[in-house]
Amino acid sequence: MPAKDLRNDVISAALAFCDGKEDDHRLQIAVQRYREAKQIKFLARRNAAYRRGRKALIVAMGGKCSLCPRRSKLEFDHPHGRDWSPSRTSRWVRLARYKREWSAGLIRLLCRSCNASKKNHPKLVEESHS
Ligand SMILES: [Zn+2]
Repeated sequence: MPAKDLRNDVISAALAFCDGKEDDHRLQIAVQRYREAKQIKFLARRNAAYRRGRKALIVAMGGKCSLCPRRSKLEFDHPHGRDWSPSRTSRWVRLARYKREWSAGLIRLLCRSCNASKKNHPKLVEESHS
């Protein structure tokens, strides 16, 4: 149900409660549904903002794998390693770090496939970049 309809439910439940026609049970449920819908919308907007930010950085970095022509499933690679854990860092902080690291020349883009084969054959990639 759209947030507007949920808001109208809250209003009609509130009016019924104020008129003494019913207790506040329906009002509480209506308010809760409205809050949940707003929260979902808020999270969706935040996710979209993050994806846009990540995409913008990838485009700024050239938008393609550093080792092959692939332009999809790109990942941020630290050829010289990193001293922080991405899984323990919030995605916003991570994105800000990637931006700083890119400015400092510390990261590059790799497609998932090249990044995976680099893990299997680290020397292969180091040689091609020395
Ligand atoms: Zn690649």
